[in-house]
Amino acid sequence: MSRVVPAAAAPRRALVTGLAGQDGTLLALRLLAEGLEVHGTVRSPEEAAGLGDRPGLHVHVVDVTDHAAVADVVAAADPDELYHLAGVSSVALSWERPVLTGAVTGLGAVAVLEAARRHQDATGRAVHVVQASSAEIFGVPDRAPQDESTPVRPASPYGAAKAYAHHMAGVLRARGLFAATVVLYNHESPLRPPGFVTRKITAGAARIATEGGGELVLGDLSVRRDWGWAEDHVDAMVRAARHDRPDDFVVATGTTHSVEDLVRLAFARAGVADWRAHVRTDPAFVRPAEAAELVGDASKAARVLGWRPTVPFEEVVARMVDHDLALLRGGGPGPQA
Ligand code: GDP
Repeated sequence: MSRVVPAAAAPRRALVTGLAGQDGTLLALRLLAEGLEVHGTVRSPEEAAGLGDRPGLHVHVVDVTDHAAVADVVAAADPDELYHLAGVSSVALSWERPVLTGAVTGLGAVAVLEAARRHQDATGRAVHVVQASSAEIFGVPDRAPQDESTPVRPASPYGAAKAYAHHMAGVLRARGLFAATVVLYNHESPLRPPGFVTRKITAGAARIATEGGGELVLGDLSVRRDWGWAEDHVDAMVRAARHDRPDDFVVATGTTHSVEDLVRLAFARAGVADWRAHVRTDPAFVRPAEAAELVGDASKAARVLGWRPTVPFEEVVARMVDHDLALLRGGGPGPQA
């Protein structure tokens, strides 16, 4: 293996896979603001068009199941930092498309990690990779909160694909690649697509408030999750990339709320008095197998990276509701839930 020197103290170029997603967009904006040249991948030319032109941003159309194209984009971007965010991001969709989820979220990650390792070998310069791992790798955990030592025992196709990628980051780390992982708990923003329960609820509450009536159909209201603010979680990714050695970090707020808490807060913020009159549950939205509660212990990220969440749950919900109300009052179409 060729000699590998660490990335320069001030990174110059970053590659972000999954640029069009919530985290990819927030991360790219952050890195551009820091003055980095940012390369990002999207799946289709339509996604590329949606991002518009920004100085310093280079958009590449790459499907992560095309492993040769992945290697080409890593070589073209020649990154100091590589953030792998692309994948089937929805647990719900992974139950419908488990084979696709394995190919994209599992093997796609391995293609990215392996391309980084080969690029590093070819150039002699370190590539600091951050793999976006997920709390779903813990499945239905037998302990709370979960931390970096919690057994990886996924319970969904999404969790299993993420677990494979998580383990491969460890395998390639042992082979000399700077491969860090961030085990992300739910993290939200107005950029969340409406397939996720936060945005579905905030958009629904805004719609019902604006129209003076209507219905919102949800799954299990008792499920408890550790919801944070996406920009905070993106900040943890950057800190993990720039730490002096690659490691695994749970990224979470350490507090949980139920889906019902979310509904109550969102409807109150939107000014709808009686949420129960508008919310119906349907088993179609209940998942085949999932944890009743997921909560992370991010004390290692706090201790080692100096990372802390900055936006409490109530504020996350308020910001998302306000955004969705403004969208509707501004005459925009609003998200389709
Ligand atoms: P995920 O944790 O990445 O799957 O994020 P989601 O926002 O899709 O789901 C968070 C939690 O909300 C899960 O435990 C879901 O079972 C629960 N949930 C309850 N009702 C709904 C619903 O109508 N849609 C979605 N997406 N999730 C729901």
